[in-house]
This record gives sequence, C-alpha cells and structure tokens, in this order.
Amino acid sequence: MRKDDCIFCKIANGEIPSRTLYEDEMFRVILDLGPATRGHALIIPKEHFLNLYELPEEWCAKAFVLAKRMAEQMMEKLSCDGFNLVQNNGEVAGQTVSHFHIHLIPRYQEDGQKISWEQTEPAPEELDAVREAICREA
Ligand code: 5GP
Ligand code: ZN
Repeated sequence: MRKDDCIFCKIANGEIPSRTLYEDEMFRVILDLGPATRGHALIIPKEHFLNLYELPEEWCAKAFVLAKRMAEQMMEKLSCDGFNLVQNNGEVAGQTVSHFHIHLIPRYQEDGQKISWEQTEPAPEELDAVREAICREA
C-alpha cells in the first residue's frame, strides 16, 4: 500500500533521496531535515499507515525493536548522554506528516532542547474517573 501524494511514502521507497541510516524490506531510517539535536532520525515504514492506530501490530513490534537497535547504535557512535523516542498522532499532538513515524532523538548535556510537558494536579476523584473511563467495558 502507498499513497501517491505522501512524501514519506516516496522517501521510504527511495523515490526521493534521503540520508539513510538503515533500510530493510519494511522500514527506512533517515536523518530528519530539521533535527532537534545532532543525529535526530526518523523510522518510516515503507507501507502507508496514517498513525499508530492504523499500524498493524506486527509492524508496531518490528518498529519498536528497530528503535531499540538504532538507539543503541546511536548512543555508541554519537556518544550521546540520553535518548528520546517521540511518536506523534494527530495534529493536536504535533503530527505534521500524515504517515506513521517514530522520532529517534539523541540527547546531549546542554543541548538546549526541552521535550516535556507541564504537570497538572488532578484531584484523586478525577484520576479515579479517568481510570474508570479508560477501563470500562463497552
Ligand atoms: P511530526 O511533526 O509529523 O511528528 O514530524 C515530522 C518530521 O519530519 C519533522 O521533524 C520534520 O523535520 C521531518 N520532515 C518533514 N519533511 C521531511 C523531509 O522531506 N525529509 C526529512 N528527512 N525529514 C522531513
Ligand atoms: Zn505514506
């Protein structure tokens, strides 16, 4: 499956050149053109899936193992001090390219980046209610 107007389909399948770090029959791993830090890369499936919900479980499992291997390789070769995996779904969550991808973001002391959120302070009843909402049988 591929979408003719999808830039990540074209990159993943080699129609648009990219700085490829790794490739197999299912995925291509490329350097991000607007990196947050040195070595920021993207894992892109060669088939078109919009987001995590559309990604078949088999692909999901393979993608996460690949993320682990890439992180290990980059930790060693780039001597980074930490690592973020980021995966955005939906515009409100920061997804700008409508083709599933995982960000591999090496972190360095003093890299000046902030990949975090403001903590909130919900009441215990609110936490109970949200747990109930998520776990309730349909
Ligand atoms: P999102 O915000 O959808 O999670 O992430 C999209 C990422 O894709 C961004 O970090 C952006 O820099 C990167 N990106 C967008 N277009 C291209 C491209 O044509 N080539 C590469 N290598 N990265 C891209
Ligand atoms: Zn696509």
